[in-house]
This record gives sequence, structure tokens and C-alpha cells, in this order.
Amino acid sequence: MSDYPMQGGCACGAVRFTLLGPPVSIQHCHCEQCRKISGEFTSTGAIIPRRFLVIEGAENLGRYRTSPSFERQFCRTCSCYLFAYEDSEADLMYFAPATIDGGRHPGHPPGSESHIYLRSKCEWEQVADDLPKYEAASPDEIVTDLQRTEGI
Ligand SMILES: [Zn+2]
Ligand SMILES: [Zn+2]
Repeated sequence: MSDYPMQGGCACGAVRFTLLGPPVSIQHCHCEQCRKISGEFTSTGAIIPRRFLVIEGAENLGRYRTSPSFERQFCRTCSCYLFAYEDSEADLMYFAPATIDGGRHPGHPPGSESHIYLRSKCEWEQVADDLPKYEAASPDEIVTDLQRTEGI
């Protein structure tokens, strides 16, 4: 079960966050930018209303824009990729749900999790789960806006 507040943070502890409510949705993004930022096959991002995400240690965040309107934030000390946001989506944030303490379920609704940008995945990656899979952005309207500048 997911109950709030829920805690998470980076490997070194310099940046911590508290969730006050559930994410809207979760995407496992296979686009090249996400792969190169994370160093992994896929970058798992949760979209959450900003009012549900409280960040401590924000002064320890490095910032990098992968497009003019999309900023990614990571711990300057341990390099954990934690947050991102799109300038045009003032009420939303991305965070990395795999960084929740103890690996707890973030509480996103059933059916709100998918793989996106599979057209850009590593040719040797095998994706073998039952989640919805999309070649580009999810048909979800929010994700379409956020991803417009990504993965192209
Ligand atoms: Zn850290
Ligand atoms: Zn991506």
C-alpha cells in the first residue's frame, strides 16, 4: 500500500524529497536523451502535481537543459538523476520514482504506467513486461506536451 507522506532521495543523502500524494502517471522512457542522461536503458519518470512534491537540499541540485524548455536536475555529489520539469507545465514535475526509500510503490493509478519512445531504445534491450508500449510519446495528453521536445 502507498501512504503519504512518502520519503525518497539520492544515494548520498544531499537531496531528499517528500511526496504528499500520488503521481499522475509513470513512463519508462527509452529515448536517446533519457538513456544518455541516466546511463541506463530507460529512465523511469513519474509525473506529479508540484504541490505533492517537497524538495529538501535543492541547493545541491545540478541543472541541465536537454532542450530549451526542459530542465533535468541531479545531485551534484552522487549524480543521481532526480527531477525534471517542462517550462510550460508550471503545475507539474517529473521525479524518479525508483529513488523512493525502500522501493515502495509510488501510488500511481492502475493503468497509468507505460513504456514510451521504444523506437529509440537500444537495439539489444529486451522489454518483456505487460505494460502498454508506444513507439513515441504516450497518447496521454500531459505526456504528449512534456515529451514534445524529447526523443525526436
Ligand atoms: Zn546525492
Ligand atoms: Zn526520454
